[in-house]
Amino acid sequence: MYGKTRNGGKKVHRGIDLYRPHGLPVWCFMDGEVIRAGEQIGSSGIREDAGYGLRIYVKHKDNVQTVYGHLGRCFATVGEEVRGRHVLGLSGDTGNATGEIDHVHFEVRVNGRPVNPILFARKVLTNG
Ligand SMILES: [Zn+2]
Repeated sequence: MYGKTRNGGKKVHRGIDLYRPHGLPVWCFMDGEVIRAGEQIGSSGIREDAGYGLRIYVKHKDNVQTVYGHLGRCFATVGEEVRGRHVLGLSGDTGNATGEIDHVHFEVRVNGRPVNPILFARKVLTNG
């Protein structure tokens, strides 16, 4: 659930977990530029996305950013211009997704702040 705390309340869930069996396409929310792709860098990396495993960040217009986590395959590369309905990767269970229902972690940030992504979720799971 968006905004819910986990792990004893230490970490706020900044996105939503979209039910998605492994190995299915994950579509880009809308046109944008890939700014991070692949495995997060260990302890020296950016802490905010620790646990996301293979993940993709896309920068869109109007300071909107989307995040797709726990992917099984990552097709997009940093610097790539992607369109809405572009397949960014395949769903999976990398990072700390183990033990939960198969899902894609999805976040929307506006001006760097997480917003509730539920209204945008359909575009990630369907090619339309
Ligand atoms: Zn999540």
